[in-house]
Amino acid sequence: MAGTIIVANWKMHKTTGQAIEFARGLKDALFKKPVAAAIVVAPPFTSIGALAAEFNGSNIFLAAQNMYPASPGAFTGEISGEMLVDAGCQYCIVGHSERRRLFGEDNALINAKIMAALNYGLMPIFCIGETLLEREVGATLMVITSQLKEGLNKVPANDIKKIAIAYEPVWAIGTGKTATPGQVQEAHLFIRNLLNEVYGEKEAASISIIYGGSVTAANIGSLMSQQEINGVLVGSASLDLASFLAIVNFN
Ligand code: PEP
Repeated sequence: MAGTIIVANWKMHKTTGQAIEFARGLKDALFKKPVAAAIVVAPPFTSIGALAAEFNGSNIFLAAQNMYPASPGAFTGEISGEMLVDAGCQYCIVGHSERRRLFGEDNALINAKIMAALNYGLMPIFCIGETLLEREVGATLMVITSQLKEGLNKVPANDIKKIAIAYEPVWAIGTGKTATPGQVQEAHLFIRNLLNEVYGEKEAASISIIYGGSVTAANIGSLMSQQEINGVLVGSASLDLASFLAIVNFN
């Protein structure tokens, strides 16, 4: 049975002071009113250490927004999986569309990152999704298939449940245009069936498939009512504590 995961992706927002203030409020709220979901915060690298100290002993997890898939070495400006674990992360976002678009990440690099994350015991939150043009020309399922298959290339069957898939249609990210619950359900069911074909029913059923793209307190309820939606990845609406708490407490 796939667990529910709710992720706050802060992107390039918040100083360490602002991150700590948010973390204290979140921790306090979840201590008073626990929720039946894994709550994950993905701050910029600069705040990971401080938030690890804040979340210590709580039920809130930490994700990095990116990593480099190599052992320690001459990679100026990069951060390894080993460093992320050492800093206190349990998860790492991999293959976000902003990294694919702005930093030229392709499926082969994303696959290497997934393998490296697994190697260090980090759970990859593996993002896939089509652009508006790809949807309009009817290529959505083809794009999802190639991103999924190439991104998961050579991942051993017994590691697949250590990965969460985030379906994030690019046209819905940061645009205020949420995919309809029906569109998301359809894409998630397609992803589940693909996983089923490759890894078998039992393994596929244990993988959390979460949705990202302009999720807010107003649409979380209808999204989460869909059977194949096991959580959400939230960008803009995760920056304000009250707004994120309204999402976390959706039911
Ligand atoms: C994201 O950053 O992955 C995202 C889904 O952003 P937003 O919620 O702002 O669309």
